[in-house]
Amino acid sequence: MGKLVLYNATILEGEELDEARGYLVVRDDVIEKIGVGMPRNRGVDLKRGFVLPPFVNAHTHVADSIAKELYLKKTQPEVVGPRGAKFRALKGPKSQLIRAIRSVLLDMLCTGTLAHCDFREGGLAGVRVLQKAGGALPKSVILGRSSKWAELSRLLRACDGLGLPSLDAIRARALKEVVREVLGANKILAMHAAETAEANAASIRVTKKSEVRRALELHPSFVVHATWASEDDLVALHRADTPVVFCARANSLLGVGVPPIRRALGYGVRFCLGTDNVAVSQPDMFSELSFAWACLRRADSRVGGEEARALLRAATVEPLKIFDLPWSAVQEGARATFLALSRRNNLLDLTETYAGLVNRARAGNLRAIFVNGKRFKPSD
Ligand SMILES: [Zn+2]
Repeated sequence: MGKLVLYNATILEGEELDEARGYLVVRDDVIEKIGVGMPRNRGVDLKRGFVLPPFVNAHTHVADSIAKELYLKKTQPEVVGPRGAKFRALKGPKSQLIRAIRSVLLDMLCTGTLAHCDFREGGLAGVRVLQKAGGALPKSVILGRSSKWAELSRLLRACDGLGLPSLDAIRARALKEVVREVLGANKILAMHAAETAEANAASIRVTKKSEVRRALELHPSFVVHATWASEDDLVALHRADTPVVFCARANSLLGVGVPPIRRALGYGVRFCLGTDNVAVSQPDMFSELSFAWACLRRADSRVGGEEARALLRAATVEPLKIFDLPWSAVQEGARATFLALSRRNNLLDLTETYAGLVNRARAGNLRAIFVNGKRFKPSD
């Protein structure tokens, strides 16, 4: 039996990421004990470093990494709209797409992300491309899309669900049927909603309903963006217990706005974090957290450690309620899958742990990734 003791650590324990200063005992692939203070038998000294659950990036489009920075001098519709530049880039050779996706997945691992949820373009063939590029980790939760009704059943069998680019991607009459099929197959249904002010205003003008309202009528597993969610929309999201995936950096880089993270916290809306198009922003959850933290502080300078903790939860444990992943929060009896961060120079002398981590931690602090009790090394 393999036993490993990590001591002199700040462990972010359980669903709430409660701070426990002490040690952690791993036996085989399970966390056997989390203790306060010093263990009887010393093991690896983490030198006051941190143990926390792995990052889960709840929204990506990894294939458009084939054309990084293609958004320059373009508006959001010109980049990712139905006839946007990214769709021209995605028409490149499959071998190039696979190479680009592999490099992105590896970069995610090197920045502590062990799972991501991808809105994969290109129907069933597009799903297959990501499946071919991926390995065991990071785990790719793939939501496909298809404009062909005949393909939908096969698509759903091949991947984890349907990720709609917009509420208008499928004609209203067919949409209900599609939703029934997805939910009947027990798969994930998600969609972009209220990313831009213009599209949300058009929705209200034409249908008398906001995009978030229309999305909620479909009973999705989650919605992506909600950048332009109104107070009523946030109340409705809370009532429906439907999580939002905020993508703060992508929203800013595409010039569409700042997600209402502060207001979502106020209304008790559940949320996760995603990095959206890799053509626009690198899927690095450390960067996403620090940018989201700056957005939160910009909205309200009274926010403190509890709000920072909520962000950290959004990047780690909150997505575990949506996606079926083979790990849980860091707690006794759980699989020993977690990140170990060193303090190095940037995390010394923190007066508050959660705010310090979201504001300053970076990939260089990643000392080790443990997967099922074994040290995992991403390799090129
Ligand atoms: Zn997206």
